[in-house]
Amino acid sequence: MAKTLNIGMAGAGLSCAVIARELAEAGHRITVLEKRLHVAGNCHTERDPRSGVLVHVYGPHIFHTDDEEVWNLVNRYVTFRPYVNRVKATTGGRVFSLPINLLTINQFFGKTFSPSEARAFIESRADRSITEPKSFEEQALRFIGPELYEAFFKGYTLKQWEVDPKRLPASILKRLPVRFNYDDNYFFHRFQGMPEEGYTPLVQRLLDHPNITVHLGEGLAAADVARFDHVYWSGPLDGYYGFDEGRLPYRTLDFERFEGEGDIQGCAVMNYTDASVPYTRITEHKHFAPWESHERSVCYREFSRHCGPEDIPYYPVHLTEGDALLQRYQARARNERGVTFVGRLGTYRYMDMDVTIRAALDVARAALAG
Ligand SMILES: Cc1cc2nc3c(=O)[nH]c(=O)nc-3n(C[C@H](O)[C@H](O)[C@H](O)COP(=O)(O)OP(=O)(O)OC[C@H]3O[C@@H](n4cnc5c(N)ncnc54)[C@H](O)[C@@H]3O)c2cc1C
Repeated sequence: MAKTLNIGMAGAGLSCAVIARELAEAGHRITVLEKRLHVAGNCHTERDPRSGVLVHVYGPHIFHTDDEEVWNLVNRYVTFRPYVNRVKATTGGRVFSLPINLLTINQFFGKTFSPSEARAFIESRADRSITEPKSFEEQALRFIGPELYEAFFKGYTLKQWEVDPKRLPASILKRLPVRFNYDDNYFFHRFQGMPEEGYTPLVQRLLDHPNITVHLGEGLAAADVARFDHVYWSGPLDGYYGFDEGRLPYRTLDFERFEGEGDIQGCAVMNYTDASVPYTRITEHKHFAPWESHERSVCYREFSRHCGPEDIPYYPVHLTEGDALLQRYQARARNERGVTFVGRLGTYRYMDMDVTIRAALDVARAALAG
């Protein structure tokens, strides 16, 4: 990219913000169109005017990564505070620690196992006849056995995806390992934290560059692409094509907000893993900023359901039987010349924020090198 290009961005989430910044610093002119009235996409945070609590508007976001360059990048723009994600789960009328660790195992089975005893016990419960787990259910039964699977995963997964766990790929469970010690840090990564003032200032500062213009409340359509030398599209892949092959399946979330005084549940995230409870978890937002103090509290009760045309797409649904529809859209996307599809919606992948930033950096650098 030698000459100055006129570049369009569909979306002002992390993906396009990172690409926009990289290309703007290289001298290109960037126009960002964002159909919402705020930047930061699904990471958007805002202060509740009544309580002062910083609310994760589209669900809880914890930054964690092993990628030192990405960690340094986000820390250049905003101050991160140390934060360790510790999740609890309510099942069968009792509260446990997640991810499943030695405390969970000992409390659940009423034991006082050492790490090696717990490992041997769980192995005795696991279904060793499953040598190559193909589905989520097989993966769970092979690693943790039926009791822990039923209590912590089966009902939760049914609520989250509304499909039989036999039709979900085994890879989903890799995000939730079992630990044979008392470590209840949900993530394994070296770097973990929360931006002091939330994620929206991070994205605002990424976009704060003389070569970047942001238009809020304006969508970019496929028909607008010709106005630019190149477009980065972080909207839905199928949306670019007017859904003409059909809609890629997504899950959406409904957040039922409630407020109260003081500390409502005592932790940031409480999962409800029983199928009989209709919601998947309750998030109490002020616990994501433990360095602040607020008298009142704001909670979200989170429900997962099929994503309809008017809903916000949250999680792409990948099933064991394959993604033929996705492959058709991807084949068309590969043949596009003036558009690069990026981000969680443009590539139809679940991507954590650090993965999103890494992918965006790679895309921008490849463009600059090419
Ligand atoms: C419930 C939930 C919890 C999560 N929790 C975590 C977490 O704890 N830690 C973590 O690291 N990651 C988490 N993530 C992932 C994180 O949200 C993503 O990594 C991040 O949002 C991806 O950024 P993006 O820019 O690709 O997409 P988005 O944030 O979705 O941004 C895309 C933007 O494009 C806009 N847009 C779409 N189409 C158009 C168009 N045609 N024209 C103009 N604008 C358009 C949208 O309005 C949106 O603002 C979570 C995701 C979800 C769904």
